[in-house]
Amino acid sequence: MFRIGFGSDTHRLEEGRRLILGGVRIESDFGAVGHSDADALLHAVTDAIFGALALGDIGSHFSDIDEKWINADSLVFLAEALRLMKERGFSVVNVDSIINLEKPKLRSHIDKIRENLARNLEIEIDCVSVKAKTGEKVDAVGNRQAIKTEAVVLLQKIITE
Ligand SMILES: [Zn+2]
Repeated sequence: MFRIGFGSDTHRLEEGRRLILGGVRIESDFGAVGHSDADALLHAVTDAIFGALALGDIGSHFSDIDEKWINADSLVFLAEALRLMKERGFSVVNVDSIINLEKPKLRSHIDKIRENLARNLEIEIDCVSVKAKTGEKVDAVGNRQAIKTEAVVLLQKIITE
């Protein structure tokens, strides 16, 4: 039995903020603004897992007005989604994702991000795809005002009742 999930996320960019993607710190003059550590890739992947399980979205599990999550490590959100997934007998088959960011170029960071995601999702690195696109200098992404991410996950039921 398979379930598919889709997630997306947007964060405003600001000079001097940290940029963390998939749990990996990226050297950048502009970083993402958010309640937690603003890891837009982890948020999209977490949202996709909640989506596959029809368990709402990341905001319904982790309120952005709850002080508990200020500067929170987004791996905590992913871990909770994975806990609920396992409770229902599912495991992750593969993930495909897109990071829309004008600068910096992410090519040299992609494999580290994939490796970190794979470890946390407990799957092989060749089951984790992370693609980076620029905004072609137009709209919020192209003007370095925002980072946008999208992710699709496939889950497979491993425990049969
Ligand atoms: Zn987010």
